[in-house]
Amino acid sequence: MRPLSVSIDTQSLKNNLNIVKKFSPNSKIMAVLKANAYGHGLIECARNLNAIDGIAVLNLSEAIDLREHGFEHKILLLEGFFDKSEIGIASRMGIDSVVHCHEQIEMINQAKPKKPLNLHLKFNTGMNRLGFPVHDSANLINSLIQNPLIGEITLMTHFANADEAAGISDQMNQFHHIPNEINLERSLANSAAIIKYPESHYEWVRPGIMLYGASPFSATNASEFKLQPVMSLTSEIIAIQDINAGESVGYGSSFIAKKKTRVGVVACGYADGYPRQANSKSPILVNDKKTHLLGRVSMDMLYVDITDISDAKIGSSVELWGKNISVDEVAECSGTVGYELLCAISASKRVPMRYVDGKK
Ligand SMILES: *Cc1c(COP(=O)(O)O)cnc(C)c1O
Repeated sequence: MRPLSVSIDTQSLKNNLNIVKKFSPNSKIMAVLKANAYGHGLIECARNLNAIDGIAVLNLSEAIDLREHGFEHKILLLEGFFDKSEIGIASRMGIDSVVHCHEQIEMINQAKPKKPLNLHLKFNTGMNRLGFPVHDSANLINSLIQNPLIGEITLMTHFANADEAAGISDQMNQFHHIPNEINLERSLANSAAIIKYPESHYEWVRPGIMLYGASPFSATNASEFKLQPVMSLTSEIIAIQDINAGESVGYGSSFIAKKKTRVGVVACGYADGYPRQANSKSPILVNDKKTHLLGRVSMDMLYVDITDISDAKIGSSVELWGKNISVDEVAECSGTVGYELLCAISASKRVPMRYVDGKK
């Protein structure tokens, strides 16, 4: 069997949940498990995060999957309904929904669910992606409170720059224009705001990336917050090539050796989710020693410099990211963020995944 695999460390997942609680001890936790729990496996992650108050996903099918596996948590659809036919099912299964536009409210009025739906009413406070305008909020909230088809209402918004220098103050100011005399619960903070802006925590927080042990900030490593990487992507060397100065490896001959170089060929490529744009600084661990990528990543293979790793041979262990090589560092070397790399592995559906409990 091809030696490439992913292991998911459930102990680290639990550790990271505790870190969320340290940053935000008084808020309920809506764990964001969209995109198959950022590639870590929806059901297994939900199972290991027992101390959460809610689970946020994207599609109704994911919410149904959770209910069918016996999860009785609050479940939230992060973009709400895409189709009227979803509303009856959500109501029957007690699934809550974001509502971000009048068309979705109209869908609810037409579907007439038997049980009132709990809504997260999403406001656009500056990200300009989803949400109602703030200026209209008083009328909107009043009409929804009087609507018998609607149950609990939570006020929600999402930050565009919680991880950037611009911060959240403009969006917080906008949010505070929403009248809330009746003390509706509020849900604002993503991972970056959980770590950096306690004033945004309120009744609910929505951690995603930090649960998986990657950093929401491009300049700060996750380990600085005591977050532990949950996913390890490991493989082996399957071939070795000794090349002389002037010789090249791989497509496009983009790496040309300046000196005698020992090249390890690793079973992992862009079809598995390793970024094709990765540059040659991209760190890789071989036999527990740190080295780096060479040349252009192929569909099923990539190249690693093992010139200085004297014990490297066919079958030597390779960590592409995990406990020693931070996914954030790899992401940096390919001009992206850890989020994208974590999601890509499970999206490829080619890499077998196993769950481990702290140990290897
Ligand atoms: C994905 C998402 C989150 C989680 O964001 P992280 O940066 O991963 O913590 C929170 N809220 C909404 C609406 C999201 O779409």
